[in-house]
Formats: sequence, C-alpha cells, structure tokens
Amino acid sequence: MGIETALSALPSLATVAEKLLGAKSEADKQALLLDFQRAIIAAQGETMSLQNQLARARSDIERLQRELEQREDWAHERSKYEVRQVAEGVFCFMDKAASGNAKDLPKYCATCMERGRKSLLQLHAEFYQGVALLCHDQSCKARLEFSDFLPLA
Ligand SMILES: [Zn+2]
Repeated sequence: MGIETALSALPSLATVAEKLLGAKSEADKQALLLDFQRAIIAAQGETMSLQNQLARARSDIERLQRELEQREDWAHERSKYEVRQVAEGVFCFMDKAASGNAKDLPKYCATCMERGRKSLLQLHAEFYQGVALLCHDQSCKARLEFSDFLPLA
C-alpha cells in the first residue's frame, strides 16, 4: 500500500458524498451512508499505513546517517595509520609518523584494522624463541610470534 492507494480513496469518498446528497429515499441514504463510512474507514487505514511507512523510512534514514558518520569517522581515524613491518614477515598497523624501535611503539592488529576496528597489540610474552604480540580483541585474538623486532624502515 502506498500514497497512491490512500489518494485513490478520496475520489471514492467524494463520489459517495455526492450520491448521498442526491439520494431520494431513506433506504438509499442509509445504504450510501454505510458506503461513506466504509470509505472513511478505508482512508483512515491507508493513512495509518502511510504513517507507519513514514516512521520506518525516517528510522532507516537516521540509522543510515549514523552509519555514514561512523564510516567517515573510521576512514579519518584509519588514515592516520599504515602497514609497517615490525619483524621478519610480520606486519602491523602503526602511526604513519612512527619512527624508532617498533618494540616501544603502539602497534595495531592488521586483521582488526581491516574489519574496521583499532585493536592494540600487546607484547604478550618474551620467550626463549622470541616475542609474541597478542590482539586483545575477543573476536580476533591474533597472535604474532617472531624472533625479534626490526628497526622501522
Ligand atoms: Zn585483531
């Protein structure tokens, strides 16, 4: 049902009203009055349906506006970082301006970053073979193990 259906009820109402005014007998008037009431009820139903559709459309627009704002915010945040090699074959997102020893700088999970989240990689352990960085995002939990950090290029 759409606005066309609701608007189509208006000529029907007008026609019934016109006939009602011209009715000669009481029985005809009663029958036309019933038609008139049915047409009004149908128009009210259409109007309510349109109001519901409008409310849903407004809600969808608001949701999409919020999503767009979040995507724009994320794109801006994401643009501050780039993929950097922190160890042999190990890549993380880091601040574009970062320099020095990767071990001492904030590193972010590449998997999470590609999924639209910024998750810090924590130095989880230093063990006999090297070090491990762990993503603390519960849905990711990426674990990067390597022998030692490289100086940032
Ligand atoms: Zn992650």
